[in-house]
Amino acid sequence: MKREVITLDKSDRVVGDRPVHLHRSSDPNAMVKEWACNSPYCEDLTGPHPDDGGLEPVVQGREPWRGGR
Ligand SMILES: [Zn+2]
Repeated sequence: MKREVITLDKSDRVVGDRPVHLHRSSDPNAMVKEWACNSPYCEDLTGPHPDDGGLEPVVQGREPWRGGR
């Protein structure tokens, strides 16, 4: 069995151990072109990174529609 090692950096939005997916910004001028994330709520994987003005992915367990805790 081969293990895939994913190196995370500060542009990534990975919380906990859910499966990770990759976002690729469609903006050629974006600072962050590719980043890892494991929010279960992402639908658009070609939008800008939060550092480029995009929305922060919703973290599971901290959904704003739950009313916060
Ligand atoms: Zn995502």
